[in-house]
Amino acid sequence: MDLNLLKRNQGISFELKKKAIEKSRKCSLFNCTTPSILSHTIQKSKLKEILAPDGHVYTIDSTGFIEVGTLSKFKKVGVGNALTFKGFCSVHDNQIFQPVERINADFTTYESFLLFSFRAVMNEIRKKEIIIDWFESLLNHPKLHVSINKENVKAGLRGQLLGIQDLKYVEDEILNEIARLPNHNRSFVYKVLILPSIPVCGSAIYNEESFEDMASHTYGPNGESPLNSRLIHIIPDLNSTYLIIGYHSSFNNKNSQFFSELEQRDNSSLLSLANDLLVKRIESWACSTQFYLEKVRPVEEEFLRLFSHPNTKRFMESQLAINILS
Ligand SMILES: [Zn+2]
Repeated sequence: MDLNLLKRNQGISFELKKKAIEKSRKCSLFNCTTPSILSHTIQKSKLKEILAPDGHVYTIDSTGFIEVGTLSKFKKVGVGNALTFKGFCSVHDNQIFQPVERINADFTTYESFLLFSFRAVMNEIRKKEIIIDWFESLLNHPKLHVSINKENVKAGLRGQLLGIQDLKYVEDEILNEIARLPNHNRSFVYKVLILPSIPVCGSAIYNEESFEDMASHTYGPNGESPLNSRLIHIIPDLNSTYLIIGYHSSFNNKNSQFFSELEQRDNSSLLSLANDLLVKRIESWACSTQFYLEKVRPVEEEFLRLFSHPNTKRFMESQLAINILS
C-alpha cells in the first residue's frame, strides 16, 4: 500500500476511534436508559485519601485514546478523573457501590470483592463495546473499505463479541450473587493477600486460558462454557495494600492449584506476583505522584515499551525485567 494512503487511513481510523470513545453511553445496569456518568473503577474515597494527598495521581491506560505512532503515556490527572469509565447513571452508581464507598468501608468482605469485580467486568464490557463501534465504523467508512483488510477487522469484531458473551456470564453471576447475600454457598472464590502499603491501585478481569484454547473458543451458539477468567484488584488501604484474586467456582479445577500455591509465597514473591499482574494484566491503573517519581519514572521508557504490547503470547510468558513494586 502506498505510504500516503496508509497515513490517510491511519488518520481516519484514529478519528473513528476517538468518536467511539467520546460517544455518550447509557447506564450499564439492567434496562436503565439514563446516560452514564464517569464511574470509577476503584472507590474514589480511597483513591483520594491514599494516592492523592495533593489531589492528583499518575495513571496509565493502554486502551485509551492514543495518537497514531505513539505509545501510551503516564499522565498526571486530577483524582476525580482517574480510572473512570462511562459505567452507570449517578443514581445506580451511588446505590450499588455504597458499601465500598462509605467511610470506614471494610475492603476484605465477600460483598466488597464482588463489587470490585462488578466494576472491573462492566469496565471491560464497555471497552469492548467501544472497540466494536470503532471496528463497525471502519467497515462502514466509504473511503476506507477498499484499502483495509476487512476480514481482519471482521475477525477482530467476532473476538470482541465473544469476549462480551464471556463477560456477560460473569456479570450475571455476580449480580445473582449480590442478590443472594449473605449466603454461605458462594459462587466465587477469592483470596486476599496483604501487601505492605503501596500507593498503587488497579482492577481487571482477564482470561487465564492458553492461547490455543482461546483461539478455538466458541462459547455461545454451541453451548460451550465460557473461558476461565480471573479477577484481580489491587486496593490500597491505610496501612496495607490488598491484592485480591478471584475466580468463578465452576473453574475450580483450573485455579485451585494456583490458589493453594499462593499460601506458600513469602512477601517478596507476592510483590513480584503483584508486579506481574499489574504490568501484564491491568490495562489501566494509578499511583501516587511520589510513587511515580521514585519507582516508575526511572524505568518508564522500558515499561511503556512492554506495556504497549499486552496480550501477546511472548509477553505473557516472559520474565519481567522490571519490578516497580520491589
Ligand atoms: Zn442507571
